Amino acid sequence: MYDLTSPKQTSELLRSHGVRPQKRLGQNFLCDRNILNHIVEAAHLTPETPVLEIGAGAGALTIALSQAALRVAAVEIDYRLESLLREVTGSYENVELVFSDFMRVSFPELCAKAFGEEKGTVVANIPYYITTPIIEKLLADKHLWRRAVLLVQHEVAQRLLAKPDTREYGSMSLFVQYHAKVEFICKVPPTVFLPQPEVTSSVIALEPIIPGRIIVRNPERLNRLVRSAFGQRRKTLLNALLRAPASFQLGFGMDDRKEAEALLAKAGIDGNRRGETLSLEEFGQIENAYED
Ligand code: SAM
Repeated sequence: MYDLTSPKQTSELLRSHGVRPQKRLGQNFLCDRNILNHIVEAAHLTPETPVLEIGAGAGALTIALSQAALRVAAVEIDYRLESLLREVTGSYENVELVFSDFMRVSFPELCAKAFGEEKGTVVANIPYYITTPIIEKLLADKHLWRRAVLLVQHEVAQRLLAKPDTREYGSMSLFVQYHAKVEFICKVPPTVFLPQPEVTSSVIALEPIIPGRIIVRNPERLNRLVRSAFGQRRKTLLNALLRAPASFQLGFGMDDRKEAEALLAKAGIDGNRRGETLSLEEFGQIENAYED
């Protein structure tokens, strides 16, 4: 039996299965009892909770989750880890391994497999190269799960938690904060991983808000308004909206200054402000000022 909270033993286990961690797959394996406990605690699991784990790796988190949850379906893209994972999870009957690329599988089908009829919990020590696509995929079907606990780069956590008029605040902050309550759990130093990444990480938790944190008629257009405002960060809101790509269909182009001014006036927002100073509620006021 290997102790997966020991970097030395994890390293031996990987070697015995001929697996060298691959950077391109974001393979930094967590080897620390304390952080594993923090993640499991943050998931608020009960013996009735089904869990979906993204990126099983060497199985340290999979096993920690399986001890607190009803069952764990763990997705892993790397077939090289199959024999190792089967060996370390073999005695845990409530673990199901799914060898697939999370980005290519149908998320609703995966949730049906992992959760059955219920809403379960998603947990992931996220492969950093696909952080944003994973979060977008989770939020696109936010009605299928009740909580997600994610280990992400600290810089990403700061963006997801950011408040208006800060350096970290951007369209990703607003997108995620519209769809979910974002909670900071703890910081994670590079030293607890094998191999050690170059950056500090953080654990965050997401809880979906349905339909969204504010009420708007057209959430898609809200998203495009936000992206326009941040696409031209240094410009005033009015100028940024006027220069938005035509494909954003905001209802005005460069020559429609009056229409854009009228929309912002109706929303009660000063077009001379920079977009990055607006709260989600204020972007919502602009969206709700549209007539259609
Ligand atoms: N859960 C393990 C842990 O905490 O030690 C491993 C975490 S490691 C940061 C990320 C894992 O995700 C790796 O095992 C990697 O092979 C896997 N992975 C990367 N891309 C993936 C994808 N598209 N679908 C599923 N798993 C993926």
